[in-house]
Amino acid sequence: MKYCYECGTKLTERELENEGKIPYCEKCGEYRFPIFSTAVSMIVENPDKTEILLIQQYGRKNNILVAGYVNKGENAENAVMREVMEETGLKVIDMHFNKSEYFEKTNTLMLNYACTVENESLAHLNTGEVDKAQWFTHEQACENIKPNSLAEKFLLHYLNIQ
Ligand SMILES: [Zn+2]
Repeated sequence: MKYCYECGTKLTERELENEGKIPYCEKCGEYRFPIFSTAVSMIVENPDKTEILLIQQYGRKNNILVAGYVNKGENAENAVMREVMEETGLKVIDMHFNKSEYFEKTNTLMLNYACTVENESLAHLNTGEVDKAQWFTHEQACENIKPNSLAEKFLLHYLNIQ
C-alpha cells in the first residue's frame, strides 16, 4: 500500500510502539495498516469423523468446502458456526483450526477449520445458497474435491496430518 485509502496522500513510514515501522498518512495523522477481507472455510465432518461434507454452489459442478466471510466485529469461530448453520442447517459441536492461505484474487485471508457437526442430516440444507451437498469418505473427498483449489489444499493438509 503506497497511498492513503482515505485521502490518496503518499504514505510515509512511522515507528509504532511494539510494531516497528508502519505506513503512515501525514495528512490524516493515521497509521494505515494493510486492508484485506477474512473468510472461513470448513472441513465439515460427521460425528464419527469418517465422512466429510462437500457442496456445490452457484450452478457450478465443482465440489468445494462450506465457506463464507467473517463479519466485522465477529470472531472466526463464530463465523464458522454461523456459516455452517446458514448453508447446511447443521450445528457445529467441535472445531479445530487447520490451515490458512491468502487468496490473491479476492484479497482474502482464508482460515480453514475442521469442524464436527451434530448429525448427518441434510434435511435443512439452504437450497437458496447450496445446490447440492453430499457426504464423502476421506478417500472419496480427496478424489471429488475441486482440483488445484484452496479447498483441496486445506483438505489434503488436514488428512495428511492426522
Ligand atoms: Zn490520508
